[in-house]
Amino acid sequence: LDHRPISRTTTTTCGYCGVGCTLDVHVRDEGIAAVTPHRTAPVNRGHACVKGRFAHGFTDAADRLTEPLVRRHGRLERATWAEALDLISHRNARIRERHGPDAFALISSARATNEENYLAQKFARAALGTNSVDNCSRLCHAPSAAGLTAAFGLAGGTNSLDDLDRADCILLAGANPTEAHPVVGARIKQRVLHGARLVVVDPRRTELAGLADVHVRCKPGSNVAVFHALAHVLLREGLVDEEFLRERASGRAELAALLHDYAPDLVSAVCDVPARELLSAARLFGHSRRPAIVYGLGVTEHAHGTDGVRALANLAILRGSVGEPGCCGILPLRGQNNVQGASDMGALPDLLPGYQAVADPAVRDRTARIWRHPVPAEPGRRIPQMFDAAISGRLRALHVIGEDICQSDPDTAHVREALRSCEFVVCHDLFLSRTAQHADVVLPAASFLEKEGTFVNFDRRFQRVRPALNPPGEAIDDFQILHRIAGALGTDLGCPTPSAALDECASIAPLFAGVSHERLDREGPLHWPCRAPGEPGEPMLYLDGFATRSGRAELAAVPYRPPGDATDDEYPMTLVTGRRLEHYNTGSMTRRTPDLRLLPEETLDVHPEDAARLGLSDGAAVRVTSRWGAAVLSARTTRAVRPGEVFAAFHFPEAEINALTSSHTDDVTGCPEFKVTAVDLRPA
Ligand code: SF4
Repeated sequence: LDHRPISRTTTTTCGYCGVGCTLDVHVRDEGIAAVTPHRTAPVNRGHACVKGRFAHGFTDAADRLTEPLVRRHGRLERATWAEALDLISHRNARIRERHGPDAFALISSARATNEENYLAQKFARAALGTNSVDNCSRLCHAPSAAGLTAAFGLAGGTNSLDDLDRADCILLAGANPTEAHPVVGARIKQRVLHGARLVVVDPRRTELAGLADVHVRCKPGSNVAVFHALAHVLLREGLVDEEFLRERASGRAELAALLHDYAPDLVSAVCDVPARELLSAARLFGHSRRPAIVYGLGVTEHAHGTDGVRALANLAILRGSVGEPGCCGILPLRGQNNVQGASDMGALPDLLPGYQAVADPAVRDRTARIWRHPVPAEPGRRIPQMFDAAISGRLRALHVIGEDICQSDPDTAHVREALRSCEFVVCHDLFLSRTAQHADVVLPAASFLEKEGTFVNFDRRFQRVRPALNPPGEAIDDFQILHRIAGALGTDLGCPTPSAALDECASIAPLFAGVSHERLDREGPLHWPCRAPGEPGEPMLYLDGFATRSGRAELAAVPYRPPGDATDDEYPMTLVTGRRLEHYNTGSMTRRTPDLRLLPEETLDVHPEDAARLGLSDGAAVRVTSRWGAAVLSARTTRAVRPGEVFAAFHFPEAEINALTSSHTDDVTGCPEFKVTAVDLRPA
């Protein structure tokens, strides 16, 4: 143990999962000595998980990028900032001259702050002249934004995490917070230990499923049918809030007509769950006084993910548990901290900051006046469309901020082909990721522990991010990188500091008009909407009415449709992908934690019956093939998965699980169908 004194402590926000814990980062000799949870933080209340506390070794990893790299004669070589910017300026000018602004696209990042995301979308629109800017919410919670907006009016969860403290029944769907959102997982566990009932809808037997009163262990891809079966029972048995439905909701008759076909005994065959369990789940939820719904990517990452969110929102509406005093609402668990913020800030192809439609001329005009740059009118390309456009030659230049799309996106062979097809690729990153290896220019970036700004966590809370360390070498934060590139392209983006950028965003987006660094420093976290400097923010939404056009909560009569990918004789098993406790996304940060064995390799979770049939023992190499690719992993037998199903996470480049996942996407938002891939297994 090192007992020398700590030189400084900085209070900041964890950059890993969507909980957004407040952490105290203790620094000695310009290195991190320890990270501890902030004792009085409202989100984490003195708790933090293994990632937030210990996974900071990446900050001084030997392979951190410390200077720009540019491709010369096919190889990435060290360069000065001036050389890198000069190359970007020349290549961009040539592409613009030959192909126009539609040849450009930018992928922004949940690892970047709000201010960086704000500047990234402004850079794409004002400097590149395109609305083709998107962020990784496309891969996870785009269906939440679409589904919750359609149901209630705004693209965020309806309530605060704190409202779970009074829930007497929690419906947890498609989420394993014990591993992916540990502080929320612990909060749910506490509620259950204090008497709340728990219904879990999940194909896997997670820790919380083991504690549940009812575990609806449904077939992957059957969520919509399951939620409709629960809604059927609520209506049939009168377990609905009649006054709420009459006064505040629309669409009951259409939904009731649809639900005739979703009696539990009919749905049982679709979801492979006994009808009595569906009935028990519905009754538990229906008889509770303060039900809460918490869900994750197991609901959204499907070919009909938006339908899944709408069907889940139906349950909240039927019970009147949204927009009413004391209600517990519906909460999407965002995968990464600031994936909410990246979308809030307008890093989306069809929406400007604050979810204002780019197609609306009044919004464009107001934004253009503040920016002193025109805003393109045509909505841009989503991430999957960017890849298709690159391969077909319509997209020539791709700018990627802090995302390793060669590991995190589905059908990675397609992603690599898209990168190879681009004339020019720029990446900002901490490390030479697989994606950066395809780039023409790689710029060394700062991590969340080295930058200034704000994040928005999964319950719409703006929180401050403060630098505990200086970035190494010539690395700088994405905010400065974007300013430097825009300057090289001859565009002044204005807002020279993160604080000024948030102020400018507040002047454009009414939802955030009352948020500023100064206020966050003085008052602590603020929930959006926060429409004026004197307003406190809204932890609970819709108390004064829903933000839909009708002013009512909208029930959705969306029929169940089967997944995009289907098993057959050639690919008889189903792969579900997800996360592990110890790692964050592509693992580039958490895997660089020395002296701690934070889960050193990925495994393929296989049910013992399947393992026996296939002759697989623990640790045996297994070749997994799908219609899109192949990967080799180590088998791990566990009853956490159902027979015929396997599970793996996407944290390790060696276990290239997204070589297997398909190009099927949610038909509303383009979110990939990560949760259902038909595969075949063979001993390797
Ligand atoms: Fe908190 Fe999530 Fe960070 Fe863990 S990873 S410390 S739960 S924000």
